[in-house]
Amino acid sequence: MSSHDLASRIDAYADLLLKVGVNLQPGQKLILRTTTAAVDLTRAVVARAYDMGSPYVEVIWSDDGVTRARFMRAPEDSFGIVPEHVAEAMVRLAQEGAASLAIVADDPDNLRGTDPKRMARYLANWRPRLKPYYELSMSDGIAWSVGAAASPAWARRVFPDLPEDEAVARLWEAIFHAVRLDTEDPEAAWRAHAQQLVSARERLNSRGFAALRFKGPGTDLRVGLAEGHRWDGGSSCTPAGDRFIANMPTEEVFTAPHRERVDGVVRASKPLAYAGTLIEDFELTFEGGEVVSAVAGKGQEALDQILAADPGARRLGEVALVPVSSPIARMGLLFYQTLYDENAASHIALGQGYAMTLRGGAKMSVEERRAAGLNESLTHVDFMIGSADMDVDGETPTGEVVPVMRAGEWVI
Ligand code: ZN
Ligand code: ZN
Repeated sequence: MSSHDLASRIDAYADLLLKVGVNLQPGQKLILRTTTAAVDLTRAVVARAYDMGSPYVEVIWSDDGVTRARFMRAPEDSFGIVPEHVAEAMVRLAQEGAASLAIVADDPDNLRGTDPKRMARYLANWRPRLKPYYELSMSDGIAWSVGAAASPAWARRVFPDLPEDEAVARLWEAIFHAVRLDTEDPEAAWRAHAQQLVSARERLNSRGFAALRFKGPGTDLRVGLAEGHRWDGGSSCTPAGDRFIANMPTEEVFTAPHRERVDGVVRASKPLAYAGTLIEDFELTFEGGEVVSAVAGKGQEALDQILAADPGARRLGEVALVPVSSPIARMGLLFYQTLYDENAASHIALGQGYAMTLRGGAKMSVEERRAAGLNESLTHVDFMIGSADMDVDGETPTGEVVPVMRAGEWVI
């Protein structure tokens, strides 16, 4: 791919993120959270946003080196400091109806060797300050989306055996393929794809399953679903009626497990990259919703660290179904980036559940969500359990068993 080709494809990608991702409207402002590792895509997004009639794009930059310097070197009280001006800009713009786009391109190992307690403290101070913003985004009150850009540090991790420029080119190719930019009409491809996800989620919703059963090599797991759970996935809709796609790419439909109703054993089907460590060949055993045993062939310490974050980190907050025929699954790559890896296979997540996966959940109190079975935690760690050898059944409240997936593909 020549550099001219790359530039024009980045323009087309920027266009797709704005038109399909956040569905930017003329006159609508844009919050753009991005990184110095994605300068070209950032500039393309900003240029296209103004072309599309946005009056203002607020660009909020981060930088791997700056972030790492703080987490490695700053004194402990640094992590109680919240940059008020950034939080205020995000909250104010969201309340004015701005769309919000994030671009990720970070080095998966950027925070390797930093104290995880620092991140926990940083997030514990940052999240409450951004609460009005998250309340709007998590309830689809504003249009938001996340995309990715190839960077040298990230590409080196995905393709360790290739020279850096080749690795970056291959990662761009993978990104463009995953977001369907190599189809004839990417916008039409996304409309059709989103419609398929919406219809899968509606079929699951109409069944009202009490539980899902996963069976595969090393896996025999029953995941009870939260009371009043709803399946989400595909496109979302703002109160103004604008459709948006919250993750680019997205291949999943997902819902809330019941915090106390998960039993059996599950074997991960792919390694899990966590805080610079790779956890491989691992198996979790659940009783009454809680992990009672966790054994990893490699990375046991990191796995133990995930589970020790808080009591909710030992229980599930998400269950998601992804067919093995998705473009990301077919590439067979490990991306070390949740946006991509979680769309490669059916997965479950330890930690926080999503309020939007409960009917009326966005308006519920914490106590009401808890009563429905939604899990609470400061963490949310997805790991892959799906494969071409995985069967999934749904169990209705009356005990009827309905095939949902066979050999990793939809049958419902
Ligand atoms: Zn997911
Ligand atoms: Zn997740």
